[in-house]
Amino acid sequence: MGGALASGTNGPISEGCVNAVATSFCVETESFDDNVDSFTTPSDTLQTVLAALLIVSDPVESTLSDTPIDLAPELLKAALFDASQAADETGGADFSQVSALEFSSVIHRIQYDPMIDGLASNRGGVLSIGSILPATYGADDQGSPEVSADFAIVYPFFVSVALMHEMGHEYYGGHVSCDAGAATCDETREGAYGVGAWWAYAWLSSSPEGLSQAGCEDAADAGYHYNCAQILDDPAWLACEDGAMAALCP
Ligand SMILES: [Zn+2]
Repeated sequence: MGGALASGTNGPISEGCVNAVATSFCVETESFDDNVDSFTTPSDTLQTVLAALLIVSDPVESTLSDTPIDLAPELLKAALFDASQAADETGGADFSQVSALEFSSVIHRIQYDPMIDGLASNRGGVLSIGSILPATYGADDQGSPEVSADFAIVYPFFVSVALMHEMGHEYYGGHVSCDAGAATCDETREGAYGVGAWWAYAWLSSSPEGLSQAGCEDAADAGYHYNCAQILDDPAWLACEDGAMAALCP
């Protein structure tokens, strides 16, 4: 079911599904300003977070030995293999189950906090969601790409990258400062930006259903600029090779 993201965000998501996702990822829905409701296209912060979590739950059709896990930064890869063993004990596991299992074992609460700086912040496994509405996601001094007509898929994907980035801080701690500009960086792919880049590459590798070429290119752009461009020294890594993400697009 490689297109679970597309089925999740293109088709209506029932109130029952909304509640199931919120419960399984420990989303404190009452901390958001938004109502818990069914939706088709995410139009508020809570819906966007839930759509992003649907991507985390079922991003790709893959098996554990396939490229996505092999490409992961080393500490994350080790954690994913541990998670896969736990999942195997309950009757087999695919990549999406393992990534969701690992995410929910590392992130034990998700709440809304409009006072935080930026998209999201992780303090000891408590993930605070800040201003993620599209108004904050235009072209800016960070080089953010504009969203395309595939907004309903690409934007939750972008938020899922931020969620995985925050998970990455649990393995790798904080960032270093960059040589220039205000953004933070990591020394190598062994860091939260490497986790985000890996995630973006794994998702694009799954050929998400319902994503046009333009939408895919936007996602590849975001995957590169928000992640690879912040890795100071990464000479040979497929996920961040020049044009590698865009090359996955139709
Ligand atoms: Zn970070």
